[in-house]
Amino acid sequence: MKIAIFGAGQLAMMMVQADTEKNHEYIVIDPSQSPPASKYAKHIQTEYSDLKTLDEIANNYDVATIDFENVDVSAMREIDKKIPVHPSPSALEICQDRINEKNLFKLLDIKTTLYYEINSLLDLENNVDSKKRYILKTRRFGYDGKNQYRINSNTSLSTNLISSPCILEELVDFNAEVSLIAVRSVNGNTFFYPLVENQHKEGILDMSIYPSNYQELQASAEKIGTKLLDEMKYIGVLVIEFFVDKNNELIANEMAPRVHNSGHWTIEGSNVSQFSAHISAITNTMKSKELRLKPSFMYNIISKHVSEDKILQLSNKLDIHIHDYHKTPRDKRKLGHITCTAKNKDRLEEKIRDFKEII
Ligand code: AMP
Repeated sequence: MKIAIFGAGQLAMMMVQADTEKNHEYIVIDPSQSPPASKYAKHIQTEYSDLKTLDEIANNYDVATIDFENVDVSAMREIDKKIPVHPSPSALEICQDRINEKNLFKLLDIKTTLYYEINSLLDLENNVDSKKRYILKTRRFGYDGKNQYRINSNTSLSTNLISSPCILEELVDFNAEVSLIAVRSVNGNTFFYPLVENQHKEGILDMSIYPSNYQELQASAEKIGTKLLDEMKYIGVLVIEFFVDKNNELIANEMAPRVHNSGHWTIEGSNVSQFSAHISAITNTMKSKELRLKPSFMYNIISKHVSEDKILQLSNKLDIHIHDYHKTPRDKRKLGHITCTAKNKDRLEEKIRDFKEII
């Protein structure tokens, strides 16, 4: 099939790379010059809503998908009149806005953080209780902890905090953060990867570890995943991020309507990576295969590359896989990731300790 991917970052790059048998033909659309996926697929350098490009995609491609959720939904709706867009524009619309997401969780009786819509300083003053701690986030375009402020009794509330519509969330006191990768194909076939544990630094994912210490929560997570897939009539990979609170219950934080950083370990850690799962789901070529998984961890390379000396030390001690996104270093930018697998959980823990000592 001919597949158009809106956004040509590392996620699109890994989708194209996952198609090792070259079953499909890809085009990537992205306004930036030489984005990661442009090394592996034809690239149109343009805004996502460029009418000529939308027309070309709708007339010459079989299916469209995304590697970046903040694409222009009305542009996706235009394409969707002619070829399927997976996930659907209405699912994208929900996932682009944290209030829509939280409202959907509430509608489906999915536990989430207490939250308030904030459009003005008055809203903030009316909802902040000085005895509690909060996090203020922009409703849209926030990722990797960007545009997020912690608020407590010492914070002086001012209009500077609210440059665009926001959501105020009560801070969850959590034991851990986990995510569920859900996959649904055009023909309805559905599967879930086991929960993976995610460790963040300054709001950015630092490490993902499979298996998590919360395997007993898998059934509850899948129940939530199924509700969301059903409600959004979702096709493709959907990732749901959760907090595990002090009662060991799942509290939904947010969703990503796409392949996700917390699933990168599946390239080496699974016989079916999240990237090939997404492509086969949207092209309706998903074969039911038993998932074969290896205990794995994934470490994000952020802001600056890992020195050659450290890579040498790591490679001497561990069988690591390095994925380079071919990006220029910049503060808080994801430049690549490293994965490592192990034969069992104990060995994985040892490897994580060794890795952290060197890195
Ligand atoms: P987000 O962009 O919502 O994924 O937030 C980035 C990170 O900030 C999360 O992975 C958490 O580590 C932290 N965080 C976000 N929201 C909350 C919350 N309501 N309570 C506690 N920590 C949070």
